[in-house]
Amino acid sequence: MKEQLNSLTQQQLTELMEQMGQPAFRAKQIFRWIHEKQVTDFFQMTDQPKSLLEQLSQRFELVQLVVARRQQSKDGTIKFLFQLPDENCIETVLMRYNYGNTVCVSTQVGCRMGCRFCASTQAGLVRSLTAGEIAAEVYAAGKDIGERISHIVLMGIGEPLDNFDNVMDFLSIISSPLGVNIGMRNISLSTCGLVPMIDKLAERKLQLTLSISLHAPNNAMRSQMMPVNNAYPVEQLVAACRRYQQHTGRRISFEYSMVKGVNDSAATAKELAQLIKGMGAHVNLIPINPVDGSPYSATDAANVKRFQQQLEQLGVNATIRRRLGSDISAACGQLRREAREDALK
Ligand code: SAH
Repeated sequence: MKEQLNSLTQQQLTELMEQMGQPAFRAKQIFRWIHEKQVTDFFQMTDQPKSLLEQLSQRFELVQLVVARRQQSKDGTIKFLFQLPDENCIETVLMRYNYGNTVCVSTQVGCRMGCRFCASTQAGLVRSLTAGEIAAEVYAAGKDIGERISHIVLMGIGEPLDNFDNVMDFLSIISSPLGVNIGMRNISLSTCGLVPMIDKLAERKLQLTLSISLHAPNNAMRSQMMPVNNAYPVEQLVAACRRYQQHTGRRISFEYSMVKGVNDSAATAKELAQLIKGMGAHVNLIPINPVDGSPYSATDAANVKRFQQQLEQLGVNATIRRRLGSDISAACGQLRREAREDALK
């Protein structure tokens, strides 16, 4: 199989040009063609020597995604099922906010974290995505609407910190001023809580927003919802978050999906406030999106509101996440699963 030229960071492309005996400025030019102009064919790079393009096209490919399905919500949210060159499928969601267009990218085909409420993990992990494939999600979504993408959230299918190196390369590519130039402050990365990887990420001192899928303030409750908690229990996770904040100077966000009768009581709100007090962290509340085969149902709106008010009273900043695209199988992983089930019929 050919290597993917669009997965190379600017630095890696510079090294490649050096190895190929080419001047360094070619790396910049080629990076621009791929990530700014987003060419799909080597020979569209019209200012490059033909011999170089021939060499490159023999060894490399430029990954392209095919739109396998596309659903548009009444609120403008678009959900794509993209097919990768190896025929695996991933989901990407485009959300339109007043501050700009946000793309929610998948980082893996499937997931091995096993969260009980999540559709993406039910069939396990197939493989991790390359940096170029993740970037291609952003470009394909932008091309679809013909507008600039200003924000990215790594909250689609997969666990980004379980694909650390490729995700780091993706971040380097997508934030490069020679490409689409999406600032780190407009990027959020969400993790289920792989503690050693949170420490590793802290070392990079990126200005992105780290989001932790907490969902429960104690081990009994969290382990029941998220098997990853058995490996990295709540107290270790929160300690890593505090280290992260200290090291990067960036505040953490906690995701909290509310499940009726499981994690939504007044006592739980109190425990949560206690756990993260003094961090200045932000809690994002969202009623769980029930998926087939999961035992959970959503906390009703009035109780979500009550939970939020209680957190606020206890000094924790909390907002209720607006649900976009709820009319188009919104919970990530659902579209991919539907497509796979259709294929098996
Ligand atoms: N693996 C990463 C990112 C992908 S999931 C993580 O765990 O953070 C993105 C967010 O959606 C996570 O907070 C996850 O817990 C949440 N989520 C997954 N399935 C959900 C569902 N059915 N309802 C509500 N939130 C869900």
